[in-house]
Amino acid sequence: MATPRRSPSIALSLSVLCVLLLLPFVGVSVDHWQAASARVESAEQVVRAADRIDALLRLPSAIDDEIFAGGYERGREELLSQLPEAARPFVTLDAVVTSEDASARVDELVASLDDPDLADLVDEARTVLANGVGSDVENLRRAFGPISTWVTDAIEREVVAMNAGASGTGDRSIAHLARLGEATADLQLTLSGMEWRWTTIVAGDFFPSTIDDRMLFTHSLIAFETQAVLLEQSLPSAGPIRDRWLDLDRSPSLAGLLDQYRSTAEAMTAGDLELPEPGATIDLATVDFVAATQLGSTITDTIERSDAVSADVDALLDAVVGALRTEAALAVARAQEERSTTLGWLGLSAALFGLATVGVAALIGRPVRRMADAAARLSEGDLDVRVPERGPKELLVGSRALNQALQSLKTAEKQANALAEERLDDPVLDERAPGHLGASLQTAVERLTGALTDRERIQVELEYEATHDGLTKLANRRAVLDHLGMATARAERAGHLAALLFIDLDDFKLINDAHGHHAGDVVLTEIADRLERAKRSGDLAGRLGGDEFVLVAEPVAHAEEAMRLAERIQREVTQPLLVDGTTVVPRVSIGVGLSDASLSPDEIMRDADLAVFRAKSEGGGLLYLCDEDLRAEVRHRAAMEDEIRRGIARDEFELFFQPGIRSSDQSMVSVEGLIRWRHPERGLVGPGGFIPIAEMSDLIVELDNWVLAAAGRQLAAWRDDPLLGHVKIAVNISAQHFNGPGLAVDVRSVVDAYDFDPALLVIEVTETALLSDIDVAAKELAAIQALGSRIALDDFGTGFMSISHLRSLPVDVVKIDASFTMDLANPETRSLMELIIETGHVLGISVTVEGVETAEDVAVSREIGADTFQGYHFGRPVPASELLATVSRAPAR
Ligand code: C2E
Ligand code: CA
Ligand code: CA
Repeated sequence: MATPRRSPSIALSLSVLCVLLLLPFVGVSVDHWQAASARVESAEQVVRAADRIDALLRLPSAIDDEIFAGGYERGREELLSQLPEAARPFVTLDAVVTSEDASARVDELVASLDDPDLADLVDEARTVLANGVGSDVENLRRAFGPISTWVTDAIEREVVAMNAGASGTGDRSIAHLARLGEATADLQLTLSGMEWRWTTIVAGDFFPSTIDDRMLFTHSLIAFETQAVLLEQSLPSAGPIRDRWLDLDRSPSLAGLLDQYRSTAEAMTAGDLELPEPGATIDLATVDFVAATQLGSTITDTIERSDAVSADVDALLDAVVGALRTEAALAVARAQEERSTTLGWLGLSAALFGLATVGVAALIGRPVRRMADAAARLSEGDLDVRVPERGPKELLVGSRALNQALQSLKTAEKQANALAEERLDDPVLDERAPGHLGASLQTAVERLTGALTDRERIQVELEYEATHDGLTKLANRRAVLDHLGMATARAERAGHLAALLFIDLDDFKLINDAHGHHAGDVVLTEIADRLERAKRSGDLAGRLGGDEFVLVAEPVAHAEEAMRLAERIQREVTQPLLVDGTTVVPRVSIGVGLSDASLSPDEIMRDADLAVFRAKSEGGGLLYLCDEDLRAEVRHRAAMEDEIRRGIARDEFELFFQPGIRSSDQSMVSVEGLIRWRHPERGLVGPGGFIPIAEMSDLIVELDNWVLAAAGRQLAAWRDDPLLGHVKIAVNISAQHFNGPGLAVDVRSVVDAYDFDPALLVIEVTETALLSDIDVAAKELAAIQALGSRIALDDFGTGFMSISHLRSLPVDVVKIDASFTMDLANPETRSLMELIIETGHVLGISVTVEGVETAEDVAVSREIGADTFQGYHFGRPVPASELLATVSRAPAR
């Protein structure tokens, strides 16, 4: 299988997709997280700014205290130094705060604000203060102006930061509290500014004020009152802030302070207040100490009230900052919670996405993978695959389809297997897969099943045909041999015998010739039926072909039982039967072969064949058992055949010639060639010693041809001989030679080979040779006549040929058998010979009388009209070289 191009798995793709989908969530969450963090930051910033504002607001009054305390202490020293020693103990000028305490408080605030610039400014101011002149207001301004400016700027910065932080939290109550804080801070600033300016104004003798101071003082007073009203309106209706406000608002210090400030402002506006010229220096000599002492206590009272109010404002600011802290802490907590919630959501959604990925991967990826695996295995031909039918709809449909396809393929496989193993009754062949494939498969299955069924049927038929005879339906040769093999094996084991009966119809050819082939078939079928009926159950009847039937009988106890069975079969089979209205009585010869451990079925068949041959050769209608004698005879015959063949090859045969004498002039008009075998051991052997054996096989045809050739050679040799050039030579041709179509051809080739006058060649055939198939024989003889040669019918009268047959046969000469001649004394024989001779003459046939041994025979033969004589009286068969001598010794013409 080709390796698929590297492509990501579904699980991986889904994971990547989920991560991509998760990204916006992550983005949103990060935004949320960042916003929450910003809110936390803002809330913290608000609190930080508020704290710093608180600290910053305390710083001016602390510095005032320090300046005031320092100034007061120096002023008191100076004052006391100018008093007489005795008056000093009566002057009590204790300060509200000591400069030591005030400095410590400033240091504390500076440290808490943690700003190096501020620390430097404070150090610088203190140095200026220490080196300068206590009453030098310009010096004081120079020293503390920058700090005041820095503080104011710092408060402004912190207010901006606080408000920014408040709006950053997005929390309305924080924003509100921040505004409250700012307002409170403003209130405090205004308050401390007013204190400073009021002090400057009322203590004008010591701290000469400026016009600005005086203007700013009245402005501040208005501002303070306005700020207080606005602040009150924006305060919550209840709670600690409202309580602190009420503390402030109802405080007698505030009322007293404001009264003091208002009266000062009114006096200043009315011009009641004596104010030194701005920048005027104080002349201590002109100071009214009583008034100064009174002023001093007024200032002290006002400062104390101012401090008390400032403390109340501080308390209010503390309450606001406290509320801010609480709100900010809540906001931080909320933001943090939001942050963690966001984080939680993010985690949850990540987890959900993860789970979804896993789930989807499991839901889709796994089934898809299984499907892919199944498909891969399927592509490798593995049908033992089943895709679990799980997962989403499409996959379910896909899985089902794949499973169904697999099922179809399995069915196809099973069907193919069933077909391959030819299990046509397998129910799987009735199964039908869905769709086109199923239809195609079914068609294929049906066709194949049909083909296989046909094949099976044809096989059965072929097997039947292969083992049965078509005409009689009996077992054929092959089946008989098979059965015989089994029967002999069984007999061998059981210790009994099996017998093969070879049943041969003796005169079937006659029946066929007389009544036609159809009649022949009827006879054969009837014989088969009779055999089937006559045989014992378990025995097998068969037909080898033609008129040859067999019966395999088993068990058989001994040869006698086999022969008794053969007798019964012969009796049953030879009952008369009706063919086309004519009664026919069949004759059969039966040869019996018996099983023997040393014999194969073929050899038992050969034994039975030998026996029936013997029965037939002895005239038919006989029963013969193939015993050792018969086998010895057959062996002898086979040896003889070999010897004859060798004799032909070694040219041991010779043709003797016996004269044929013409009745009219007693001259030798012909000779009969008679074969002799000059056997190297047995000497000269006559035809009776080998012709019958040669006739049992086609060896006789070889001998015939040898004789023909010898005759041809002789005719050629005599062609120009004045005495023998006209003498015809007759040769004996065996009946066997008529079985094939070759006789005329053989004659022709001899004529061609030896170049003699074919009219000098006479072919002698016996009537029995012609009778076996008279039509074929007649054609063959006519062909020979056409060549110019003659035909002689030999041994006439010994067979069953009627004289009328001569009319239809191409015969030139009839040779009356010697047995008639020997019986010439008998008048009946004599008149029969006369009849033959007369008929022959009527038909234009020349008649020769054989076996003429005496002058008497010659005389009678001539008397009854014979044309030619042949016999010892005229000469015995002799070699060609002796022929003339024989003839010359013959009786004179
Ligand atoms: P056949 O054709 O009837 O031949 C005549 C036989 O009668 C010859 O015997 C011959 O010697 C014998 N014979 C002739 N004159 C007399 C007589 O006056 N008295 C007696 N008792 N016998 C006489 P042979 O030569 O022994 O032949 C016997 C048979 O052998 C022949 O009978 C013929 O049928 C067969 N034969 C001989 N030569 C051949 C041959 O070349 N080819 C074939 N196919 N058969 C042959
Ligand atoms: Ca003859
Ligand atoms: Ca003869």
